[in-house]
Amino acid sequence: MDFALTEEQRMLRDMAKNFAETEIAPYVEEDEEHHHWRKEIFDKMAELGFFGFSINEEFGGNGMGFLEGVLAIEEVSKVHTSWRMAFNMQDWGPALTIQKFGTAEQKKKYIPKFVSGEYVGSFAMTEPDFGSDVAGMKCRAEDRGDHYQLNGSKMFITNGTVCDQGLLYVKTDKDAGAKGITCFIMDYSLPGITRKRMLDKVGLWASDTGELAFEDVKVPKELVLGEVNKGFAICMTQLNATRLGCAAGAVGLSAACLEASIQYATERSQFGKPIGKYQMIQQQIAEMKMEHEALAALVYKAAWLKDHNLPNVMETSMAKLFSAKAVVHAANECMKLHGSYGYSNEYPCGRFLRDCKQFETLEGTSNMHTMIVANTALGYSQNRV
Ligand SMILES: Cc1cc2nc3c(=O)[nH]c(=O)nc-3n(C[C@H](O)[C@H](O)[C@H](O)COP(=O)(O)OP(=O)(O)OC[C@H]3O[C@@H](n4cnc5c(N)ncnc54)[C@H](O)[C@@H]3O)c2cc1C
Repeated sequence: MDFALTEEQRMLRDMAKNFAETEIAPYVEEDEEHHHWRKEIFDKMAELGFFGFSINEEFGGNGMGFLEGVLAIEEVSKVHTSWRMAFNMQDWGPALTIQKFGTAEQKKKYIPKFVSGEYVGSFAMTEPDFGSDVAGMKCRAEDRGDHYQLNGSKMFITNGTVCDQGLLYVKTDKDAGAKGITCFIMDYSLPGITRKRMLDKVGLWASDTGELAFEDVKVPKELVLGEVNKGFAICMTQLNATRLGCAAGAVGLSAACLEASIQYATERSQFGKPIGKYQMIQQQIAEMKMEHEALAALVYKAAWLKDHNLPNVMETSMAKLFSAKAVVHAANECMKLHGSYGYSNEYPCGRFLRDCKQFETLEGTSNMHTMIVANTALGYSQNRV
C-alpha cells in the first residue's frame, strides 16, 4: 500500500522487497522441508539494518521508526512469513525494551549486539501452564544475596534453542501476581539451562521454537532489567511493540495470498474463460483486496501513532486482532480459489494456510485483543502510549 509514504520510505520498502526476493526466496522450499532456521539470512538482515528501526544511532540503530520497520517486515513476511519473527526477537523485543528500561551500562553493553546480530535474541514469558495469564507464571528467581537462583520452565519460545541473550520474565515474589514479576536480560550460556527444539508445529517451519528448562541457574544481579518486581509493566510495554511487528507480518502474508490468487484467477480458465471473470471469484478477490487494504491501514496508523508517541495500545490491538481475521480469511480463500492445485504442494497455498494461524494466538490471542479494544472503547481502561 503506497498511501502517504515518503520517497525514502518507498526506497526502503523496495530495498526490503529486493532483499526478500533475492536472498530469502531461493531457500523457502528447502528451509520449510527441513524446518531450518538459516543463520545466513539472519546475518544479512542484520547487515541491512533491519534490527535497528527503533533504536537510536548511538546504540547502532538507524532510528528510522516503526512505520519503516513495518514496511520491511511486510516485504520479508510476504516472501517467507517465518522471517517476520526475527524483527521482534531483536529490535522491538530486547533492544527497544532495554533502550526504554535499561541502565546506561546495559544499553551500551547489549543493544548494539542485538542490532548487529552478534546476539540472537528472544523474549520469554509463556510457560506450559500459563500463556494469556502472564501474571500467573511460576518460573522463579530467588534472591540469594549476590545472585538470583532460577528454577522452572518456559514454553513455545521463539529462537529458544538458537538465542544467545534475551528478555526473560520470571517471578521474584511468588505470591504477588503481576507485582511479583521481574525481567532479566538472560544469558543463555549460563550453566543449568536445557533447551529443546519444538519441531512438530503447524506452521512457521523456518522459525525456531523452543522449550527452556532452568535448574538452579545462578543469575547475576546486574542482569535485572528495570526494577525488581516491576517486570509486568515492562512486559506489557514490550508486547505493545512486538504486537505491531506481528500484525505487520500478517500484512505481508495477506499480500502474498492476494497476489497468488490474482495471478491464478487470471491464468486459470474453466468453461472457456479465465476464472477471474466469474462473479463469485471476483467477490473473493474483492474481499481479500479490501481486507488487505484495511489491515495495512490499521497497522500503518498504529505505527504512526507509536512514531509520534501518541496513545496506541488500542490501535495496536485493533491492528493485531484484525490481522488475524483478515489473513486467515485470505489464506482460506487463496486455497479455495486454487482448487486442487492449491491443495498440492506445487503451490504455496498450504504454507500460507499453515502460517496464517499463528496470528490468532501469538503476541496475545484474538480474545485478549478483543478485551483490550472493548475495555478501552467502553472507557473501562485508558488508551496509553
Ligand atoms: C510458534 C509460536 C511461537 C511463540 N513464541 C513465543 C515467544 O517468543 N515468547 C513467549 O513468551 N511466548 C511465545 N509463544 C506463546 C504464545 O504467545 C502463547 O501461546 C499465547 O500467548 C497463548 O497462550 P496459551 O497457548 O497458553 O493459550 P491460553 O492462554 O491457555 O488460551 C487458550 C484459549 O483460551 C482463551 N482464553 C484464555 N483466557 C481467556 C479469558 N480470560 N477470556 C476469554 N478467553 C480466554 C484464549 O484466547 C485461547 O483461545 C509462541 C507460541 C507459538 C505457537
